[in-house]
Amino acid sequence: MVLPTVALVGRPNVGKSTLFNRIAEERISIVEDTPGVTRDRIYTHAEWLGKQFNLIDTGGITLEEHDLNQEIRSQAEIAIEEADVIVLVVDARVGVTAADEVVAQILFSAHKPIVVAVNKADNLEQRQDIYEFYALGLGDPYPVSGVHGTGMGDLLDQVIQSFPRETLIAEDDSLKFSFIGRPNVGKSSLVNAILGEQRVIVSNQEGTTRDSIDTKFIDQDDGQVYTMIDTAGIRKRGKVYENTEKYSVMRALKAVDRCDVVVLVLDGAQGLREQDKRVAGYAHEAGRGVIIAVNKWDAVEYKDHKTMQEFTDYLRQELQYLSYAPIIFVSALKKQRLRQIVELVRAINENQNRRIQSALLNEMLLKATAIAPAPTVKHKRLRVYYVTQVAVQPPTFVVFVNDPEIFHFSYERFLTNQLREMFDFTGTPIRLIARQRK
Ligand code: GDP
Ligand code: GDP
Repeated sequence: MVLPTVALVGRPNVGKSTLFNRIAEERISIVEDTPGVTRDRIYTHAEWLGKQFNLIDTGGITLEEHDLNQEIRSQAEIAIEEADVIVLVVDARVGVTAADEVVAQILFSAHKPIVVAVNKADNLEQRQDIYEFYALGLGDPYPVSGVHGTGMGDLLDQVIQSFPRETLIAEDDSLKFSFIGRPNVGKSSLVNAILGEQRVIVSNQEGTTRDSIDTKFIDQDDGQVYTMIDTAGIRKRGKVYENTEKYSVMRALKAVDRCDVVVLVLDGAQGLREQDKRVAGYAHEAGRGVIIAVNKWDAVEYKDHKTMQEFTDYLRQELQYLSYAPIIFVSALKKQRLRQIVELVRAINENQNRRIQSALLNEMLLKATAIAPAPTVKHKRLRVYYVTQVAVQPPTFVVFVNDPEIFHFSYERFLTNQLREMFDFTGTPIRLIARQRK
């Protein structure tokens, strides 16, 4: 499903990132513990009254060497380009400023739904004193306090009411994979090389959100319909923000959201960068299948029989939470091992949709407890009674225990490994949820 996107726009210091965190109500994740990985987010998922959407904090996309006016303009442009609904954030304590008027004017001409959030309305008096914001000409202002969380319900009600209906249509059911990676690692070259290998192109169009080129093709070997999402396909339209790292990461994350399997492309001569880790962490948390493709392997000089293994060890060390992701060494230029990419996408998609019968899961559980008895935590012995699969993509299992509080990460990891040993979940994350047996 293509989710609607909501963007927060406004001057620096009005409270955009505070509201962003408030709306996202972000939970702590394993990946977040890895230094420098997914903190400092500007793009996330959120939900209100069962309606899911993507949320962007355009304030997080800052431009070097540009003045405040240019920055605000760019942020408004990003919001117009990316979002279905725009939330203009202003400051109750400062009132309407010239910069607010500039943004309001740019937004007004975009003909997109706009909701005005008057932030820092922390008390009753401030909540009532918001009439001057009608002057922005963008409809009713909504008083909120990002710090206290007040007024958020009314604001979000208005936001989800403004969602256009078309954004909720389902995408087709072809198997979707996307190439994600820094500029120049060879994403476009891989796309073209794969398409060059006797495949029948069904359609070739800009993605629904205009941030990628989607090529749908039928693989002549397996008859499967695939959609290849190329995020590098559209770029350099000359907008000042297009080359900023945050913006390109955000675009990559959007593509991750739309696909089944992510191919993280690295340059064999350069190794891993912070940006790669960020995107990889996001793909993992979003439950997508992941392949790590080390491209330009032809250009790596001084290779010997150990080089691949050493590079693999390095990646495993740096991306520990992606231990399930296959690593392949390819060359778009020399057309080496490209066949593997599509084959792996197919195999991973099977694995991420794999359903295991409860009887087999409980056999696994018996074996697992024979190898390592459940631990005793705080003088209480963990008892694991029963495991059952509740979802696919990613495969998700509920583990019924005597006390979820003492179902610790180490035992969870142990059971996850046992599951991976017994069943083929290559390339896909799997999730375990502990529940108390009633
Ligand atoms: P941004 O630059 O627009 O992303 O603004 P921030 O979210 O970083 O907030 C700027 C400052 O305003 C921080 O010191 C926040 O703690 C403060 N702030 C944000 N929301 C509120 C609010 O609702 N009430 C008050 N009193 N302060 C707020
Ligand atoms: P993108 O920005 O990730 O889409 O990267 P491109 O596909 O545009 O490739 C960037 C540059 O790397 C181009 O000059 C390509 O010719 C070169 N390149 C791509 N793949 C390979 C490869 O496998 N080996 C070598 N040696 N060069 C490559």
